[in-house]
Amino acid sequence: MKSHSRPFLDNRPSLCSYCLRPVGGLLFHWGDRWYGACSTEHLEKIRDDLELNDENKRGDRGVSLKFAQVNHCGVEKAVTKSRDKYLELAKQNKSYVIHEWKKEHRLQLFGNAIKEYLIYSTELAQEGLLVKRDD
Ligand SMILES: [Zn+2]
Repeated sequence: MKSHSRPFLDNRPSLCSYCLRPVGGLLFHWGDRWYGACSTEHLEKIRDDLELNDENKRGDRGVSLKFAQVNHCGVEKAVTKSRDKYLELAKQNKSYVIHEWKKEHRLQLFGNAIKEYLIYSTELAQEGLLVKRDD
């Protein structure tokens, strides 16, 4: 991923480059790139991985990470939890048609929904999915 403007405000890593857990505040600089890490232990794992795989020291990781699966319940919860934000922004824009809104407001709405989705996904990852038996 490339970023030219304000990388740490607008394009800060959300997930640990080693385990894909949400990143606290740790960043790791290697070559031309920055990686997010959830812990100093995983920061070391990322460094070890780069030292083994990045011969040119350009910051390219030799490991390909898996893609996350979309959780439909998570999407539904994110949309539901963004309802108030949607109504607030619709009032400000005097329209319920999102593509007629200011770009900044569209970004706020989708950013809110994505944040809610990440919160749901993080809770699900931490607690596991409870499936009740019918007995
Ligand atoms: Zn990690």
